Amino acid sequence: MGHSGKRVSGPTVGRLSLYRRLLNVLRDEGVSHVFSRQLAAMAGRTAAQVRRDLMVVGYSGSPGRGYDVARLLASLREFLDTPGGQNVALVGVGNLGKALLSYFAGRRPNLRIVAAFDIDPGKANRVINGCRCYSSQRLAEMLAAKGIRVAIIAVPAAAAQDIADRLTACGVRGILNFAPVRLRVPPGVHVEDLDMIVSLEKAAYFARQGGPRTGEAADA
Ligand code: ATP
Repeated sequence: MGHSGKRVSGPTVGRLSLYRRLLNVLRDEGVSHVFSRQLAAMAGRTAAQVRRDLMVVGYSGSPGRGYDVARLLASLREFLDTPGGQNVALVGVGNLGKALLSYFAGRRPNLRIVAAFDIDPGKANRVINGCRCYSSQRLAEMLAAKGIRVAIIAVPAAAAQDIADRLTACGVRGILNFAPVRLRVPPGVHVEDLDMIVSLEKAAYFARQGGPRTGEAADA
């Protein structure tokens, strides 16, 4: 739910996040105003959809000048972020988990990975890529201590459901799941699945076929 109290769909939140990334690029290039059709072209959407999405954040541009980039970014920040940011946990500090730690380090001040967990005693009690790593036995204790409600699962498939159960029992309400399993979670918990191997295999498949058939890319 955003600051306005309105419930918005997952795809809308995803598009708002994408618009913010694109607007950050424009701001860094010194662009002060942007029209919905320009943002739409960058995002691969229609101008009508961009306008509809952005109405949700409560800022409308001027018909003559478009959106003020800085003001729109401020509105998106207010809508998408929590004041003070949110703490995130990572479970599974293997190759993928380590890559995620270094990718996120300092990149999203509003979403900080503040604790990592692993079953491997060789990884516990160490700082790995800038993040303190704990034994997974300390999951409940550390999630409570750091007020964590968002977590990333990067353990092997066989361990993922157990980790999801433990995370949700500790109050986690949003999970980014990299394990190739469909997680069962209590109502009210949002799971976002991301399987990079499936995505790469799809890209490779369509590369061999000469690209997806018309209309297939959009509903992939
Ligand atoms: P590495 O070779 O460094 O272990 P990997 O990416 O090949 O990396 P995976 O087998 O995918 O390793 O496991 C990812 C990580 O998840 C490993 O660090 C592993 O120790 C950890 N892990 C496995 N099971 C659990 C569990 N139940 N709880 C927490 N961490 C776990």
